[in-house]
Formats: sequence, C-alpha cells, structure tokens
Amino acid sequence: MDIQLSGIGMTSARTRERLVRRLRDVGIGNEQVLEVIRNTPRHLFIEEALAHQAYDDTALPIGHGQTISQPWVVARMTELLIAKKRPNKVLEIGTGCGYQTAVLAQFCDELYSVERIRPLQDQARKRLLQLGLARVQLRHADGGFGWSAQAPFDAILAACGRPDIPQDLLAQLADGGRLVMPVGSDGRQQLTVVDREGDQYHTQTLDAVRFVPFQRGVL
Ligand code: SAH
Repeated sequence: MDIQLSGIGMTSARTRERLVRRLRDVGIGNEQVLEVIRNTPRHLFIEEALAHQAYDDTALPIGHGQTISQPWVVARMTELLIAKKRPNKVLEIGTGCGYQTAVLAQFCDELYSVERIRPLQDQARKRLLQLGLARVQLRHADGGFGWSAQAPFDAILAACGRPDIPQDLLAQLADGGRLVMPVGSDGRQQLTVVDREGDQYHTQTLDAVRFVPFQRGVL
C-alpha cells in the first residue's frame, strides 16, 4: 500500500528529520521503516492542541485513557515484525488513533486491525481514509480473540500489554509467521517476539516497554 501525501502536513519537514535522527540514535536501523516514519503525518492522528509535540519521541494522550504509541515503539515493533520477511497479511490489535496502523499498512498487502473502543475506531477510520489507506479493514471487537474469519496471518502486532499471549492469537499465526507484543503487567512489559514453525513456537524477550493494558470486552 502506498500512502497519499500530496498537500498534507509536509510543512514540518525539519521536525520530522529530527525525529528520524533521534530514532537512528536509539538504534532503529531499518531505513525503510525510518522513511515511512518520516513520511507519515503523525500530527494528523492527535488533537490540535498537542500537534506541536507530534514529532517528539513520546506517547501522547488520545482520549478514553489511551495513548498514541511513542514513535520509537512503533518503529521498533514494525522493524521486528518485518525482519524475517515482508508479511502479506497482518493483524493488529489496538488500532487506537490509527498511527501504527498507517505505518504498518505501508509494509503489507492486507491489514486487519481490531479496536475495542468504538469512538477511537471511528476517528481512526476517518484518518486512514484521508491518507488514502481505505483498504485497511477495521473491526470493533475484543482483539483477545483475534479475527478468526481472516486467519491465518503472516504477522500479528498487539499495541496493548498483558501477562500472557492470548491463545487465539497464537493459533491464528500462519506457519512461519511472527507475533510481536508487549508481555507483562502493571504498565511494565517486555517486547516479546514469537515465531511459529509448525506446532513449535519460539519466543524471544526483548526491550522493556510501557503500554496501556490489553483489556476485555468492548466499549
Ligand atoms: N498503536 C496505537 C496504540 C493505541 S493504545 C496508536 O498509536 O494509537 C492501545 C489500544 O489498544 C487502545 O486504543 C485500546 O483501546 C486498545 N485495546 C486494548 N485492549 C484491547 C482489546 N482487547 N481489543 C482491541 N483493542 C484493545
């Protein structure tokens, strides 16, 4: 998927460049990921009053007790998700404002994203349309059950943390597929990568991170 950028948000090129430099400094090495971060207008995903912080490497509130993920986290998770091979079909849990969704959409052919809070999903849908990313499929549901009708997925990314990885997500991972998710509790997790090979699941525990919780049910 290609993002349509003509005429929107290209004014802050300098602050975007500063963000890309910062991400390089903190270890993001994938040039394609850096390029997509540079070209994705993060300021369109947050309220105007916070827009001046859009290209700082920080999480920001998006309402409903949720946050837009920190650019480093978005870059890191994307880099991990595509490290082995470019995924065709991807599932995201926790659309939020849709920023990570917009980034991911530029690295796969089909993207399915689940969000449990309806008003956040509605806003994300508008922004994705505005950016020409209407092909992303959004669903209002508890992402703990994945999206069985569309499974299997080559890659699964969860943007919310819990102490265990939902069984349904592991089951919906394609053979050879990769899942990236923050695992842990009380707002302290570790980025965890799971690679599936047949019935075997290989787990790696990486960076310490802080994500909002993976909650049950829908709002
Ligand atoms: N990448 C998003 C992150 C949003 S925060 C962004 O940059 O905006 C994480 C999101 O996960 C929140 O919107 C929260 O509502 C959602 N979430 C938490 N538990 C969920 C669940 N069980 N199913 C679907 N979404 C969930």
